[in-house]
Amino acid sequence: MRAVLLGPPGAGKGTQAQVIAAQLGVPAISTGDIFRANVSGQTELGRQAKVYMDAGDLVPDEITVAMVKDRLAEPDAKVGFLLDGFPRTITQAEQLRSSLAELGSGLDCVLELVVDEEELVRRLSGRRMLVDGEWVQRDDDKPETVRHRLHVYQEQTAPLSGFYEQEGLLARIDAIGTVEEVSARAQAALRQAEKRDSAGQGDAPPAG
Ligand code: ADP
Repeated sequence: MRAVLLGPPGAGKGTQAQVIAAQLGVPAISTGDIFRANVSGQTELGRQAKVYMDAGDLVPDEITVAMVKDRLAEPDAKVGFLLDGFPRTITQAEQLRSSLAELGSGLDCVLELVVDEEELVRRLSGRRMLVDGEWVQRDDDKPETVRHRLHVYQEQTAPLSGFYEQEGLLARIDAIGTVEEVSARAQAALRQAEKRDSAGQGDAPPAG
């Protein structure tokens, strides 16, 4: 299964990616996590990405796409993958499509986690992560940056919903509820995608 998890900051992509990927037996690949690991490891990639991340802007496509290409070439991604936080622009989606086509494959399903904006702001401002045994707020979860990230999402990433709908790959998932409720909805959508794939891709009408 080659799938993408789409959704605004605060929709619960990271949590759902872990649960769903474990159920599918594929690696969860989060571009945000890879960038953060590079920032804390003080690599050249981390140094480049940090400026954009702190501002709540997207890291430029050429940096991000090259990084994801390398990650997808690793052996564990042969069985499939669940991408979390990538693609985030139409350019990234097109590049992903052509990289996969080069390998003779393509995406099976795109899950869009849907949450209203009020709930997103509430979740993000209360979010903390555990670093060295301490609960800290992510630099980019500060209220001003959160508003900017949501704006960037609307402008640059939300159009992917229509892009993947046209490709017949999109499944919209109501992401309000417990982790288990949301992952059960995602599972159901993935099973449908699997059925559609085995029935012969390309003949199926757009999902959604
Ligand atoms: P969230 O979904 O909560 O915004 P992420 O962990 O996915 O958080 O991403 C954090 C930051 O990392 C983004 O605001 C952006 O700066 C950078 N980033 C992650 N993925 C991408 C991507 N595909 N393209 C560009 N920038 C990205």
